[in-house]
Amino acid sequence: MENKKHFRIAVIPGDGIGKEVVNEGLRVVEHLADTSNKFSFESDYFPWGCQYYLDHGRMMAENGLEEIKNHDAIYFGAVGYPTVPDHISLWGLRIAICQGFDQWANIRPVEFLPGIQSKLNHPNKEDLNWILVRENTEGEYSGIGGRNFTGRGNRKEVAVQSSIFTEEGCERVIRHAFQLALKRKRKKVTSVTKSNAQQYGMVLWDEVFERVSKEYPEVETDQWLVDAMAAQFVLHPEELEVVVASNLLADILSDLGSALAGSLGIAASANLNPEGRFPSMFESVHGSAPDIAGKGIANPIGTIGSAALMLEHLGLPDEAKMINEAIRATTEDGVVTADIGGENTTKEVTDSIISHLSKMY
Ligand code: ATP
Ligand code: MG
Repeated sequence: MENKKHFRIAVIPGDGIGKEVVNEGLRVVEHLADTSNKFSFESDYFPWGCQYYLDHGRMMAENGLEEIKNHDAIYFGAVGYPTVPDHISLWGLRIAICQGFDQWANIRPVEFLPGIQSKLNHPNKEDLNWILVRENTEGEYSGIGGRNFTGRGNRKEVAVQSSIFTEEGCERVIRHAFQLALKRKRKKVTSVTKSNAQQYGMVLWDEVFERVSKEYPEVETDQWLVDAMAAQFVLHPEELEVVVASNLLADILSDLGSALAGSLGIAASANLNPEGRFPSMFESVHGSAPDIAGKGIANPIGTIGSAALMLEHLGLPDEAKMINEAIRATTEDGVVTADIGGENTTKEVTDSIISHLSKMY
């Protein structure tokens, strides 16, 4: 009998549907812990987010990073309130954690689930899947710049927003993409930039990509400009395997990918500190969706899929695979929420996933 592992998970449900879907993900993990008998876990809840901001003037506790830095993983819902500017909610919590814990690789798989409506017209839709690897600590989201308020009032204001591309930052995320490609049937990495219109940072990215690719002769590569890649996502998604791009570009492409696959609500994501020096964070790609919050109809699949990524990261790849199989079985049965063409509630979808899991042991 292997040693049973025990994990401490920092849970940050956040706002809106974040709270609803995180609970569903934890129900799935709890079920697996009970039935597999391979691991146990405890959840510590942190009530950070926009309500916390309205009460305390900050998105998270002052020593928040200290409070969660010794946990094995962070399970995150979503943040955002209509009354709190998005740049405050994003920078005050999510980006603070990603940068504070050097979670430099954001992994966003795009999966086409069986039995759901999607806008993409493709003959082999259900065989499509690719992984977006997003640089997660620098690039366009470096937070460097300023505004020249002296121009205010006479329409002469100037704002500068700089991007940072370091050779080390580019290299580690590009190398991560190649390592992921080695594990796939078709070994291919696509790099995406807009280096024809950006003379410095993304040119450095391209050079690093070319250098690193020489170390992986068994991996096929190509390099695209983001505008053409957006079209490629729609026209030839079967060409995509592992796609690596900067912070902003990969963020945009991941919404495109999840929308093509059916809904933002099914997209999972992992913010990894691959060295394991700090905890990694697992969250769905979608936001707090105030328009449907509190109605019990949010799609939990993105967040449950993120729990699968969390278990994989914690050394439980079989359990992660089981969650993904149970998700596919559930959509195949047609047990789905309204965003992907169904009538089921959040809870019903999770219950179905759990009942498929129970059949696997
Ligand atoms: P953020 O700024 O945090 O990225 P956003 O404003 O881009 O958030 P989301 O909250 O992600 O937006 O929502 C965008 C749209 O997708 C909304 O109409 C929302 O209802 C829908 N949506 C997002 N997540 C889900 C989900 N899990 N289930 C169903 N619909 C969802
Ligand atoms: Mg968004």
